[in-house]
Amino acid sequence: MANRKYIVGNWKMNGLRAQLSDIAAIAAIAANNEGADVGICPPATLIAAAAEANPGFAIGAQDCHFAESGAHTGCLSAAMLKEAGATYSILGHSERRADQQEGDAEVKAKAEAVHATDMGAIICVGETEEERDAGQAIEIVTIQLARSFPSGASADWLTIAYEPVWAIGTGRVPAASDVEEMHAAIRVKLGELMGQGSDDVRILYGGSMNGGNAAELLAIPNVDGGLVGGASLTAAKFGPIIEAAASS
Ligand code: PEP
Repeated sequence: MANRKYIVGNWKMNGLRAQLSDIAAIAAIAANNEGADVGICPPATLIAAAAEANPGFAIGAQDCHFAESGAHTGCLSAAMLKEAGATYSILGHSERRADQQEGDAEVKAKAEAVHATDMGAIICVGETEEERDAGQAIEIVTIQLARSFPSGASADWLTIAYEPVWAIGTGRVPAASDVEEMHAAIRVKLGELMGQGSDDVRILYGGSMNGGNAAELLAIPNVDGGLVGGASLTAAKFGPIIEAAASS
């Protein structure tokens, strides 16, 4: 079973150079909480400056194109992100699946591109509220996982984030029993998909995690960390989550 908790902040489309001081403050908190692995995924415009200013702190990207190069206006390749200083990328976030119509096959190709460039990948999966209300959450999420699953997967570079779409940015969090049930189902599916080593793949929970609920969420079996949006934007909000992870 994966042991060290992994806490990743997803800054989404937030942050100018003035906010680099927040990343420095978060990196300092992470350095004082060695019991957890911590990273921040700022907007792509800040990756290089954040990585240069905080050596040893894990800066990631929020997306990556699957192609090595070519006619893809506005997109960034894994090599570009790596050269800027990103060591991993979030892939298939529900906002990208909705806004950019990203499908599972594309997410799988992106994960393989990221791995080919020696970076880590955090693949996001999650159900909508309608799907949960219809009793389809586990089926939807495990199918999404299977279809997004990259070849050659190993815990060295692959992380899964379960993010119920209806919990993202809403202040709503599923019942602990529902999180436990979903993470257990994801663990079983990982076993089917990759066999040996599947127990070491970290499964993060994401969706309105904050300093007040992190300890409880992180204590749920098979919750190996958190993917955090709004509460990762300042050291004051993110610090307590990092501390909860380091002591859990
Ligand atoms: C996210 O978008 O990955 C996320 C978890 O956001 P929030 O923490 O704001 O719900």
